[in-house]
Amino acid sequence: MTQRRPLIAGNWKMNCLRADGLALASGLAAKAAEKGSLGCDVLVCPPATLLSEAVGVTKGSAVSIGGQDCHAAMSGAHTGDLAATMLADIGAEYVLVGHSERRADHGESSTDIRKKALSAHDAGLVAVVCVGETEEERDLGATLPVVNGQVAVSLPDGATAKNTVVAYEPVWAIGTGRTASVEEVAEVHSAIRAELVARFDDGDQFRILYGGSVKPSNAAELLGLADVDGALVGGASLKVEDFWQIIESCA
Ligand code: PEP
Repeated sequence: MTQRRPLIAGNWKMNCLRADGLALASGLAAKAAEKGSLGCDVLVCPPATLLSEAVGVTKGSAVSIGGQDCHAAMSGAHTGDLAATMLADIGAEYVLVGHSERRADHGESSTDIRKKALSAHDAGLVAVVCVGETEEERDLGATLPVVNGQVAVSLPDGATAKNTVVAYEPVWAIGTGRTASVEEVAEVHSAIRAELVARFDDGDQFRILYGGSVKPSNAAELLGLADVDGALVGGASLKVEDFWQIIESCA
């Protein structure tokens, strides 16, 4: 019987000045300490400016810290970028790669994302590899080939259930308030699972997160689906109470 511990991950994106961000991170750490044992792993991905201090205020708690991106190279002339080793060096444990906003705003391809994931693995980080179709691709009936293609190219051959998490985030559901239906989510997650199982020995152990307008009111239903092993949450991760309710949905 497959046991996959859910992961609830918050992506703060380009939000939070220092006071608000640290209050949010320490508020979550305090809630986790109060609760004791949780039904899931918890990750927050603050902006780069807050990473180091967020590691500090969550130290010893059940809350892990991750970067929102990393460069494929470990050092060099890459102004403005962060190396995976730099994230690991300050105590981050995870990094998001291939978020649709990175793919769209920075022209990142699945090949670029595979290189970033490799770099994350080399630095000892867990790579959260994001995939998802646009509204146009869904309307064309191309969702499964698009997502399967992104998974195939974005995951390096050395990916394992320990060093990699897949996040399915339909682009049209991110930040829009529109959530994919349970049928749509179930169909794509099961296709991703089949691809992981076909390619990796431990493919049935990889966590596959759903992301796209997850909130306290819809989290339990989504998290109850067979191949949904957690959530990647944007907007609703910016308030302790909302994010906490999603964490609590993992019962
Ligand atoms: C995201 O940023 O990955 C995301 C899913 O955002 P939201 O929850 O706001 O749709």
